[in-house]
Amino acid sequence: MQRLGIFGGTFNPPHKGHIYIALEAIKGAALDKMLFVPCGNPPHKSVEGNVSPVQRFEMTRLAIADYPDFEITDLEMKSKEPSYTLKTLEKLKILYPDAKLCFVVGGDSVRDMKDWYHSEEIFKLAEIVALRRGGIDDSIFESSIELYKETYDAEITVVDILPTDVSSSELRRKIAKGCDVADLIAPSVLEYIKEFEIYKDKI
Ligand code: ATP
Repeated sequence: MQRLGIFGGTFNPPHKGHIYIALEAIKGAALDKMLFVPCGNPPHKSVEGNVSPVQRFEMTRLAIADYPDFEITDLEMKSKEPSYTLKTLEKLKILYPDAKLCFVVGGDSVRDMKDWYHSEEIFKLAEIVALRRGGIDDSIFESSIELYKETYDAEITVVDILPTDVSSSELRRKIAKGCDVADLIAPSVLEYIKEFEIYKDKI
């Protein structure tokens, strides 16, 4: 059975932490490919910066262009509805009926998933591939995983990585201040940000 990695996010902007965990997840959880799903209207956070869903999609497309195992879908981006993970997984199950859905999450999402829209249904539909994130306490990461396993019988694969704390919010702040972020972001994405003057003054 194909193991389909699903990587949802705001990607505002996509950064090297995203690429790193996607590559590690493929390797560590034996995924056949990774489907990036930039969200349209995130229900759990506001989209900061003068950026449109189409621009976040385009930046994500550029960020993954060099990686043959990475693909992207506009499933969430083109919808006007709030981007609930459960709804996305249900749609993907119809599109990929024979695949095992493996939903990839970093440590902050692992911590927060209990508050997501019908998370108990998410755990029924998909295996969770969890990767630690710098700044998120190990004990919180581990206790969240235990809770999901015990309460929801969740199937969770933890992929061990060297955690990084690079974040889109840090990047937006740095870009607005004119700092050099070339080591945290793909050159093509940086070009795009400069061309469309994204994050220039609003963060
Ligand atoms: P923001 O700073 O705006 O909150 P972000 O950097 O968390 O953004 P998202 O696009 O919201 O980026 O994240 C999408 C997914 O990638 C989430 O599951 C998140 O946990 C994970 N992720 C992002 N950066 C990292 C990182 N450095 N390490 C581990 N996971 C990460």
